[in-house]
Formats: sequence, structure tokens, C-alpha cells
Amino acid sequence: MTERHLGLFRNVPAARPGLCRVCHSAPAEPHAPACLCAGCHRATAGVHRHTPHVLPVSLCARTGDDRRLYDLVTRRRSPPGELTGAALLAATVARFHRAHLPCLTRPAGGPFTLVATVPGAGAERPVEAFDLMPRVVQWVTGLRDLHRPVLMPGGDRAAEEALARHVPDEWAFQVLGRLDGERVLLLDELFASGARVQSAASVLYRAGAEAVVALVVARLVDPWADTRVADAWARPYDFGRCCLCDPAARLSSDAGRALLG
Ligand SMILES: [Zn+2]
Ligand SMILES: [Zn+2]
Repeated sequence: MTERHLGLFRNVPAARPGLCRVCHSAPAEPHAPACLCAGCHRATAGVHRHTPHVLPVSLCARTGDDRRLYDLVTRRRSPPGELTGAALLAATVARFHRAHLPCLTRPAGGPFTLVATVPGAGAERPVEAFDLMPRVVQWVTGLRDLHRPVLMPGGDRAAEEALARHVPDEWAFQVLGRLDGERVLLLDELFASGARVQSAASVLYRAGAEAVVALVVARLVDPWADTRVADAWARPYDFGRCCLCDPAARLSSDAGRALLG
């Protein structure tokens, strides 16, 4: 199914110094010692604890002819044919998860014990009566059995408005129960500024999670803002490599240590 829709996806550039060490998909801010892109710099500064491990399946753009994946994850348009967007997203997550399980589990320090999805709050996506990702997860072998709806909207209007402005705010979410020692795979369909994922990661850590690794379907970027990103964008999409296992990947010593355990 994903093969017929390969045109939707865009390669994430190989991780390397000069690109953000968290999302790997945007240039690190010049002079920033932490090697973070502008979005991750802002999203990680405002939370108790952030996840340094974000693995995007694909880049996406909001403008131009290449906005189909963005439209799909924000449910503005259904893919061609009889498919529903959720089925295509499930096939995408299943294929990527199967191909890159070691890339996901290595930074977690071991196999995942819990799969969580980020509940719909904030305005990076249209208001929907239900969340897409919990349905997507139910179709993915290997994720279904680990999925528990532990992450809930926090019910704080101001926090949700902050997220809508790409300002991280942990009060946008709450965790049901304790997560002591859990290694969490955190799934979200769209990573724009990182404020949602990092706010969610932070409340998971506060609840006792040992590790949080975020798998995001679409990383929203300006593909033309950086030549390394533009080069990756222009190549035909390859499900066989991600930004971490790409042969061209060169990790900073910190990230390399974390990855190699
Ligand atoms: Zn980043
Ligand atoms: Zn990989």
C-alpha cells in the first residue's frame, strides 16, 4: 500500500553535525551550543525534560505542489482511491516500524514497554471529534499490544492555546497513573515546532517514564531553507533508510553514545 503512495513521502536527511540533533530535519541554529534547530530550541527550553530522540518518517511541506502528506496527516484531503487516511497512515507506521525497530529501540535503552499517542489538543491540526493515531495504532502489529491511552488532554485552555502558538506547555496534557520504569514509544502524526511532542514527553517523564522516543509521521519543514534538507527532499523516498541508519549519518559524540548504548 505504501509502495503505491511512495510519492507522498520525502527523505529525512542523514543525521549529521550542523543539522538539529533532536529532529535531524532542520539546520541547527548558528552559534547555538546545543545543536538544535529553532523549533526544537524553543520546544525543549520550555519543558521540565525533553526527549532528545525524535525520528521522523518523512518530511512534509505546507505550501507548493508537495503538500499531499501534510494534507493527509491534517486530514484535509483523502488519498486517492478507496483508502482512508487512517489506513494509509497505519501502513506507513507499520512499514517504518518494521524496518527501523533497532533505530527506535537503541536510544530507548531496550525494547519498548508502552506505546502512547499524543491526544488532539492545540491547533496544529483541525479540530476533530476523535484522534486518528489511536485508531492507526490498532492496525499495527507490534504496537497494538503495547498501546495504552495514558496520555490525556490536560483540560487547560491557556496551555492548549500556548501549543497552538508553538509554545510548549506541559499543562496541555496529563498522564493517567504512574509510568515508573516504562520505555515509551510516543507516536504523533505531525511534528511542526515540537512543542506538542516535547510537552507530552515531559509529562511522561514526570510520571516516571525511563525513556521516551518519539516517532512522528511527518516533520513539517521548509525544504528550501537548507541544501542538505533540499537534497534529501529531491531524492526518491527510501523506506529502507532513516536519518539514523543512512550510511551518510554521522552522529555527534553525545548522540552516538546514546544510540550505541
Ligand atoms: Zn529540531
Ligand atoms: Zn533506521
